Amino acid sequence: TKTVTDVICPFCGTLCDDLEVVVSDDGKELHEVYNACAIGAEKFLHSQAKDRITRPRMRQEDGTWKEISYDEAVEYTARMLADAKKPLMYGWSSTNCEAQSIGSEIGEAVGAVMDNTATVCHGTSLIAVQDIGIPSCTLGEVKNRADRILFWGCNPAHAHPRHMSRYSIFPRGFFTGKGHKGRKVIVVDPRPTDTASLADIHLQIEQGHDYELLDALRVAFKGEKLPDFVGGIPKEKIYEVAETLKSGRFAIIFFGMGVTQSIGKNHNIDEAIAVTRDLNEYTKAAIMPMRGHYNVTGSGQVWGWQFGFPFAVDLSRGFARYNPGETTSNDLLRRDEVDAVFVLGSDPGAHFPFSSVKKIYDRPSVAIDPHETPTTEVCKVHVPVAFVGVEVGGCAYRMDNVPIETRKVVEPPEGMMTDEEFLQRVLARVKEIKGV
Ligand code: SF4
Repeated sequence: TKTVTDVICPFCGTLCDDLEVVVSDDGKELHEVYNACAIGAEKFLHSQAKDRITRPRMRQEDGTWKEISYDEAVEYTARMLADAKKPLMYGWSSTNCEAQSIGSEIGEAVGAVMDNTATVCHGTSLIAVQDIGIPSCTLGEVKNRADRILFWGCNPAHAHPRHMSRYSIFPRGFFTGKGHKGRKVIVVDPRPTDTASLADIHLQIEQGHDYELLDALRVAFKGEKLPDFVGGIPKEKIYEVAETLKSGRFAIIFFGMGVTQSIGKNHNIDEAIAVTRDLNEYTKAAIMPMRGHYNVTGSGQVWGWQFGFPFAVDLSRGFARYNPGETTSNDLLRRDEVDAVFVLGSDPGAHFPFSSVKKIYDRPSVAIDPHETPTTEVCKVHVPVAFVGVEVGGCAYRMDNVPIETRKVVEPPEGMMTDEEFLQRVLARVKEIKGV
């Protein structure tokens, strides 16, 4: 066997870059994964599953699967997209930027709506950034400088397990030599989470009162009067948190779906950014969304430079339109505005409301995914592909918008296509059909 070092984990937005993977000498089998957390290691090990689907499949009338060739899968996908009036091309978060870029070309050729998983996650954060900008930083700066860490509506202990040991709570950095001991950790969460159990101060806010509490912090920074309770938190605690943040040398606010998808949505993030901006009058402060899928940030980057918008991009009129609430996947599905669904690198079957999933089931649909998922179970065609970041490399963006080149560590099963290869074939065929 041999050990591949400095491997990038392609599971969550932390993109840990210190993994070691033991593979056979011929690079065909993967044996062990070191340094990764449980969910990261599982992604690598799952590539070796004996029951892995290795050939495309088409669903029959009676609900059973029939194996088809990659050529047939390319033909079905290209026809479906070319024949549709307004196809939805959704997902894109668990693949590399190269595949995202080819997908955009297909989307332009067929007049699709391009949307990524931010639509049910940090899309509201992106809207807030468009509203008022964002004072952010890199995870390296957090590790080396931050002595005040605030997690708001997120639980990295479960969703980004090594984030705390590599970047936020525990590591010793250039100006943070005492590690955990030199930092104050604040968690705002209605639940007593495992992350909250590590906090110096846990504000157990009443659900749905984030906007008020953020606003109250801005009042407290200025030392002005607060009501006795805000969002169930006594004012003394709010003043204490405000003082703790102000007295630090570098404060960072990490936030998750507890704020982006609860009442207030993008307005919560507007306010969290305003808190960060106000805090910069007293000390250095930055804010960062805890992006989930490992390359969801990349799909926003790629579309940002290709279309000017990071998600919910409607290309059906021949130019890019963006209107979250109208051009977002769930709104389109529930209003019956799309007539074919293409999913790559995500699992809406598991994460969308049932009413939307049913609409996917009712339409011509293709799921491109290495795994069997709830989405592949409702789609007409399932195209298995190589695991990006395990069996094929490519560019991915970490949650702090730093691009990192992921690496291939093991060979995919023989004859299996990568996302890029499949999309290139579909693009070529779409161009033929459309005569463009
Ligand atoms: Fe992978 Fe995220 Fe775990 Fe790091 S924290 S090993 S990137 S899943």
